[in-house]
Amino acid sequence: MDFQPDRNLEAFRQNVRTFLRERLPADLVRPLRTGTRSAREDVTRWQRILNEQGWGTPSWPSEHGGPGWSVQERLVFDEECMNAGAPTQDGGAQKLLGPVLNAFGTPEQKAAHLPLLLSGERQWCQGFSEPGSGSDLASLRTRADRDGDHYVVNGQKIWTSYAHRADWIFLLVRTDQEAKKQAGISFLLVDMKTPGITVRPIRSIDDCHHLNETFFDNVRVPVSNRVGAEGEGWSITKFLLNNEHASTADLPVLRRYLKQLRSLAVLARDGASPLIERTSFALRLARFEAETNAIAMMVQRVAALEQDHSPAAHAMGSILKVRATELQQQMSAFVVESLGDHGAIAYPGPQERDAATLPMQELGRGLANEMFFRRASTIYGGTSEVQRTIVARALFQF
Ligand SMILES: Cc1cc2nc3c(=O)[nH]c(=O)nc-3n(C[C@H](O)[C@H](O)[C@H](O)COP(=O)(O)OP(=O)(O)OC[C@H]3O[C@@H](n4cnc5c(N)ncnc54)[C@H](O)[C@@H]3O)c2cc1C
Repeated sequence: MDFQPDRNLEAFRQNVRTFLRERLPADLVRPLRTGTRSAREDVTRWQRILNEQGWGTPSWPSEHGGPGWSVQERLVFDEECMNAGAPTQDGGAQKLLGPVLNAFGTPEQKAAHLPLLLSGERQWCQGFSEPGSGSDLASLRTRADRDGDHYVVNGQKIWTSYAHRADWIFLLVRTDQEAKKQAGISFLLVDMKTPGITVRPIRSIDDCHHLNETFFDNVRVPVSNRVGAEGEGWSITKFLLNNEHASTADLPVLRRYLKQLRSLAVLARDGASPLIERTSFALRLARFEAETNAIAMMVQRVAALEQDHSPAAHAMGSILKVRATELQQQMSAFVVESLGDHGAIAYPGPQERDAATLPMQELGRGLANEMFFRRASTIYGGTSEVQRTIVARALFQF
């Protein structure tokens, strides 16, 4: 693979910047400094604008209606969107469900879901994990029993991100109670308005509501909403989970932390001197710069392996996930630490949510919440322990 800078990439970056300057509405811009999550209506509005530009699904190849960008172009796009404060996109729909529908969906399913996914009018959540079935996903117990041309779904999902605001859910269910555990699983698309679905919030340590428990009580789902054959859910899931190794690093987030640290290096003071004059700070900052650059190279390496359909992509993706998520945790904690007293002030309790006016407080706003949220990055998308097992298996083939 080639690590030399791509001259065309700079022109691409300028093109994205111009687009963002001209088309990103000011009232949709989230301050760069915060990790605030986008409201649902903002996600939809921004998705519509991107879609008009032909950039609605940055990771899709052109044969499926995407822009056909290289991995490097996608990373530049993500980075520029983050720098501009653009709302996030519906990642579950774009990166997980979309490729599944393109690969396994019937023409009717594609026609029913893809246009609304592209326009942002239909938002999705992912119903895989259950109490006791997270890492060991194949042990899931939510069942779907056939009743004529419907399945009747009963069971519980947990940690369902954004279930409270999603229109539909893509769901793993057990359709065969007798078969070996992986073999009895099917993949269903379910309208969240179907009677029998209850969503209960789980409030997380970052003081936000994005996680939920989702209960299914005799929920009737048309058989035509099953993607792939009955019992094919596990191989579809493997396809889905293997799809986006390079994006698990969240490289734009790491680069944002670096920017914040560079600002703090001159803004924050250690007594009378700027923080950068403290050797221990300068050394850690330099180390984080080097580690972020190493992650950037690894992202390219994993992407190249994926493009070549190399069997090494899976294990390399796991190494990337472990290293990048641990770095996210270390860097977000260091940003908060470097804010000194303001790190604590910036944690928005109910009364002080809008109180901060000083630059340092503004710089820190939302960062403590984000630091807390990043504790979860070594859990979601497969825990670090499970990733390490994948790496060990690949190395030692046990
Ligand atoms: C913020 C967040 C968002 C999420 N969003 C979604 C979502 O939208 N949809 C969804 O379906 N799920 C979602 N999840 C769930 C996520 O996929 C699971 O939390 C994850 O797979 C771990 O499963 P678990 O929580 O059941 O933990 P467990 O699997 O019970 O693991 C508990 C501990 O045991 C360790 N462990 C487990 N098995 C092994 C093993 N074989 N070897 C060594 N150690 C092991 C784990 O590493 C962990 O430390 C989300 C989770 C979080 C934190």
